[in-house]
Amino acid sequence: MAELTPMMRQYFEIKNQNKDGILLYRLGDFYEMFYDDAKIASKELDLVLTGKNCGQEERAPMCGIPFHSCESYIAKLVKNGHKVFICEQTEDPKKAKGLVRREIIRTITPGTVIEASMLQEDCNNYIASVYFGVGGVGICFADITTGEILATDMSGEEMTIYTMNEIGRFTPKEVLLNPAAADDGALVDFLHEHMDSGLERMTEEQYDYAACEQLVRRQFAASAEPTIFTDHPMIVCAVGALLRYLMDTQQSDLSNLDTLQLYYQGQYLELDLNARRNLELFETMRTKEKRGSLLWVLDHTKTAMGARMLRQWMSKPLRSPNQIAQRQKAVGELKDDLVRRTALADELRQMFDIERLIGRIVYGTANCRDMRSMFATLEHVPEIRIQLAQCQSSMLQVLCESMDELQDIKQLIDAAIVDDPPFSLREGGFIQNGYSEELDKLRDIASGGKGSIAAIEEREREATGIAKLKVGYNRVFGYYIEVARSLADKVPAHYVRKQTLANAERYITDELKQYENTVLQAQERITDLEYQLFTEVREQISAAVHRIQITAQTLAQTDVLCALAEVADLYQYCCPEVEYSPVIDIKDGRHPVVERMLRDTMFIANDTLLDDKANRIAVITGPNMAGKSTYMRQVALITIMAQMGSFVPAKSARIGIADRVFTRVGASDDLASGQSTFMVEMSEVADILTHATRFSLVILDEIGRGTSTFDGMSIARAVVEYIADPKKIGARTLFATHYHELTALEDLMDGVKNYNIAVKKRGEDITFLRKIVPGGADDSYGIAVAKLAGVPKPVLRRAKAILKDLEAHAPKIEVREVEEEEEPQMSLTNYRSDDVAEKLRGVNVNTMTPIEALNLVFELQKMV
Ligand code: ADP
Repeated sequence: MAELTPMMRQYFEIKNQNKDGILLYRLGDFYEMFYDDAKIASKELDLVLTGKNCGQEERAPMCGIPFHSCESYIAKLVKNGHKVFICEQTEDPKKAKGLVRREIIRTITPGTVIEASMLQEDCNNYIASVYFGVGGVGICFADITTGEILATDMSGEEMTIYTMNEIGRFTPKEVLLNPAAADDGALVDFLHEHMDSGLERMTEEQYDYAACEQLVRRQFAASAEPTIFTDHPMIVCAVGALLRYLMDTQQSDLSNLDTLQLYYQGQYLELDLNARRNLELFETMRTKEKRGSLLWVLDHTKTAMGARMLRQWMSKPLRSPNQIAQRQKAVGELKDDLVRRTALADELRQMFDIERLIGRIVYGTANCRDMRSMFATLEHVPEIRIQLAQCQSSMLQVLCESMDELQDIKQLIDAAIVDDPPFSLREGGFIQNGYSEELDKLRDIASGGKGSIAAIEEREREATGIAKLKVGYNRVFGYYIEVARSLADKVPAHYVRKQTLANAERYITDELKQYENTVLQAQERITDLEYQLFTEVREQISAAVHRIQITAQTLAQTDVLCALAEVADLYQYCCPEVEYSPVIDIKDGRHPVVERMLRDTMFIANDTLLDDKANRIAVITGPNMAGKSTYMRQVALITIMAQMGSFVPAKSARIGIADRVFTRVGASDDLASGQSTFMVEMSEVADILTHATRFSLVILDEIGRGTSTFDGMSIARAVVEYIADPKKIGARTLFATHYHELTALEDLMDGVKNYNIAVKKRGEDITFLRKIVPGGADDSYGIAVAKLAGVPKPVLRRAKAILKDLEAHAPKIEVREVEEEEEPQMSLTNYRSDDVAEKLRGVNVNTMTPIEALNLVFELQKMV
């Protein structure tokens, strides 16, 4: 250390306290990185690695990024999972004695980014904090760019699942975990495999209750619900630790996080990760694109604030018919009033993202253009309020009432900041004339005080008798007096010659020099004063953060309601009746996304009837490609849309509030995690069977495919029996299967109804009709589809023969109640013993898996 240069010594003092990230060390116009940081950054940012003399024999590896364009580089480092420490010069280099003082002024992590260029406009940027305490969990989510902060807790065995589901709902970019949470294998596996978030293992002290309580009380002052301290200690810990982390990384006040919203388990429709993915709510499963998702269809919002709000509504569908009805009424009113909707849309379209703007103003990173954007947005608020004031529905009226026009802020910005301010705050020129008397005076002086120059000129002309004497200015000499060369001899002695031109001489005088100093000083003072005035304006706007957030929120809601109304109108959606009863009765329902994707064909609408009596489970059969998955997903999507408060693609719909939507759709190979498809499928089924209730909606597509036929069919059937049984679950369920044997259940169990997707058959050819009809499908379609796909005739013939044979031997199984401790048994005893030999002859031992072999032995044993 001793031999290091003073600068490098300073670098190491700072670096040693901030080891877990990349340190950007400000040196002049650059942020420099050294040693390992430099090696990493040079590779990831494609920068040239150079060296710096550090006092030691070997030069320190170094690379740098220009200060003025650092954002994109920092963004990349953060995206690659690094923490970035910004180490700034914290004193004026001109005034510093010796080495300039430097300090970390901010730490940038994935969840604490505030720069617009590093954020996705239509997406919140949440950071989460998870506290696993004794028997329960407290979770907090915050978006520091918008000021939203929410928290929830729950106790009991399911806390890990609850945490995973909530994290899946908010998809935070960064998750802070207390040691107990960080040691929870299931949670950490989930975060690694399914979430793209940075993880931060915190210490237990950071979640210390007393310290956290103090932070929470200070941050939320009066707005914190008192019950949080008495009834929700784990929330206090989660929130407190998050606040501390944000204060440490931002090193600025967090005044835009001023209202803590609590929500409880059961407040919103639960959608686990599978459901979100399978139903393609926000992105498609395969390409991860918005196009092709439900969001893509619904997102007709005009502002970034509205786009984020729509995502929130989709992530948190409601469970209160009352709240849903409020939204529906507003959507309905706007749907029917095209003129008003267009008027609102026209205003909204011209608005900027004031929710994030106020964030930047509070954090001190906003510039004058941001303020002008704020002004330009506020200018449209009164018209929006005029429109809303004429609406009937209570939600629109409440929006109108709570929308603050912020006249004072608008006037302040307009009076203080010029219309088209420069981007930078360095050179001044952004404060309006007339805003500050002092500034106006200084400007007058600095702009050469036209009056004073003319006066000097006039006086010198008289004194010298040179009528054409001129006072001019250039950058090299400053102010000068210019006299034609022919008159140079008339110039008085105190004129000092500075420059000789072709036909003129230029002089300076003491008076001019003095004048010049005044001008220069005025200019310097102007820059300082403008910056000071700007900071004052910023502080005044910051003080209105809460009001601005409310306006932003109400604008966002107005935008979402207009968007949903527009979609409902454009695509002929209907208003669903939403109620507390386990029913789904849809007439002419359509899949909102598939119907938008079809080019040449019409989407065929279908009815759905599910209830908790005769129609608990719909067993849907039909060949591949008939439209089973589309049909089932459409029911789930309609339910989710209804609970968001949206209209739905149907002629009419009655939707009983669902507590959860479960899906087990398609063979979602989870190859990445190394689990077999079948294992994944079964763990998903296990999850559904343990958590579904009478109020859930369950979508099961082709369960049991990943194992041998008998195995698979037995599991599929046992699952249907279990779900259909109101004493066990009794959830509304759509069950697609290629095991036609399961259609037998309709006659054996209450609540099971068979459906198939109609197919027209002419000879051996089929056409998909896409219409769902009662009854099971005809088995031979599989072979018809094979023919459609071009499988050779001899194979088709052989397949038919085998099928016939199999059908003749199909076992008849009766329904048996599953006792808790009883091992479910298959009654396959109706095999004849000579079947054993035939069965053995029919198998190909070379291609069997060990499980299949075991199953076979098991089956054979049952036969003898
Ligand atoms: P399955 O699950 O039975 O294999 P899908 O649900 O995947 O079949 O449907 C296959 C394709 O059929 C879809 O991609 C869609 O293009 C089309 N399709 C499905 N349902 C309909 C419908 N109701 N109207 C029009 N086309 C449909």
